[in-house]
Amino acid sequence: MRRAKIITTIGPSTNSIEKIEKLINAGANVCRLNMSHGTHDSHRQVISNIRAASKNVGYEVAILCDLQGPKIRVDKLDENLELKEGQTWVIGSSDVQKDYPEYKDCFIPTVYKNLVKDAHTGAIVLFDDGLMEAKAIKKDRDVLKIEIIVGGTLKSNKGINLPNVNISAPSFTDKDKEDLMFGLREGVDYIALSFVRTAKCIKDVKILLHQMRANIPIIAKIEKPEAVKNIDEIIDVTDSIMIARGDMGVEVGNHLVPGIQKDIIEKCNDKGVPVVTATQMLESMTDNPRPTRAEANDVANAIWDGTDAVMLSGETASGKYPIGAVKMMNDIIIDAEKKPKKRAYLRHMELGSLSASIQVAASIIAEKNDAKWVLSVTQSGNSCLKMSRFRPKTRVLGVTNDVSVMRRMCLYWGVLPFYFEESEDDLSTLQEQMIDKLKTEGLVENADKIVITHGDGKFFKQGSSNSIRVEIIKDVRKKKTKQFQDEQIEAGRIILDMNLCASCQNCVQVCPHDIWKNDESGQTYIDGSNSMKCTKDMECITKCPTGAIEIISSDI
Ligand code: PGA
Ligand code: MN
Repeated sequence: MRRAKIITTIGPSTNSIEKIEKLINAGANVCRLNMSHGTHDSHRQVISNIRAASKNVGYEVAILCDLQGPKIRVDKLDENLELKEGQTWVIGSSDVQKDYPEYKDCFIPTVYKNLVKDAHTGAIVLFDDGLMEAKAIKKDRDVLKIEIIVGGTLKSNKGINLPNVNISAPSFTDKDKEDLMFGLREGVDYIALSFVRTAKCIKDVKILLHQMRANIPIIAKIEKPEAVKNIDEIIDVTDSIMIARGDMGVEVGNHLVPGIQKDIIEKCNDKGVPVVTATQMLESMTDNPRPTRAEANDVANAIWDGTDAVMLSGETASGKYPIGAVKMMNDIIIDAEKKPKKRAYLRHMELGSLSASIQVAASIIAEKNDAKWVLSVTQSGNSCLKMSRFRPKTRVLGVTNDVSVMRRMCLYWGVLPFYFEESEDDLSTLQEQMIDKLKTEGLVENADKIVITHGDGKFFKQGSSNSIRVEIIKDVRKKKTKQFQDEQIEAGRIILDMNLCASCQNCVQVCPHDIWKNDESGQTYIDGSNSMKCTKDMECITKCPTGAIEIISSDI
């Protein structure tokens, strides 16, 4: 199982049920809707396709609704514009385009109404992530004249960045509010805020959500120089962080992005805040079936930096090889995770609360005892997030009775969400039923150890994880008919409790006298014709993980 998670952006290349099923099967954990594109109707259709695809393949995925923020974009164009070095063009709000017939052949319409007001002569204007560059010459009423410095083909909806201009627009725009309401109505699982600048940008949205009694985690996208400066206060109030390297690179300069990425990941890891590394991770796969070596390195290095998730944008939204890109990302991560780098460091992180200590202790017990899973029984997902923050070596099952919590956990590092509905109150029966479900879903085999954390009283009780239990799985393959096998040895007896026996083969392997055998169904039994050879060195007992073997000596 891969530990770090993959976010895929859904767009024209991937918005059908069939394509989304393939994305999920290739390893997508979260599907991102970019509210900068499309209409509410088109997004509603995509959401319904994601839910249908996830149901068909039997894996939950989270839906991330990524709000545009005060992103300045080129508006819809009838045809692409060819910008050439030395030419003069004008930029203006689309609303005023018709008022300037004299500029009809050189008008770049933008969705941002205050661009001309905010800009000043000499300002640098970058298009399409900095692929094209221009310089503001002067304002003419409501339009800004610019001279092209680096030309190129400008397409609809491409971004415009003004790195040395203070943008007056609030970071949460009216469109964002409408899109947020839409997302809440449609039951999306995460909200991303673009171009946040301060902790207040996040707090304001949190207050709004609180007033609406909406409980949804926020991902703060770090892409403005101000946000990089205010990163500590932002991490303190947000649920997650996204290192939005696209706009960040344009705004602060690409040469600074690698260092900023490392710093932000380290800070997030320290505070246990999930962090997503985004943009251009496998960019060349938008057109090519294979990534460049540098891109493969970029994904692996983000994993080694300690990122919780990596993101694909254009690669899966509009690229030629969306499924291949997810598969490639999955493969790179799996191999990167074979060389873990930072776990020892994370050991020292603040434990914070009793429940966090329980989660950490459980993951250490699981690791030291080679457990197959560590189960975090959780109502809100919080207990499970505390375990994920610790970067446990053992795989985590986030067990919950709430589908929306299951989806939220799709983003958590190292966590496989697991649905289990409580049908009654008795704790031990519930635990038995949960283990039965693990068996029927093929998640455990005989002799596997699992470590379970949960609260007392009700199984799924918020904020109350206070116990750790270790269980050894047995009885997976078949129900045993015979309960005990009891054979004579010299001066004593050897007894096998068939209900406890997990048929793990340990005794078969250690006994030099062939006393232990397996029948054709795989069940271990005592070969009565050899039992007299027993030398009572007790090795089979020491190696038995379930305590199924007993040797009674009549010597003493
Ligand atoms: P975007 O955000 O794709 O919405 O612009 C990511 C980034 O800027 O890197
Ligand atoms: Mn961005």
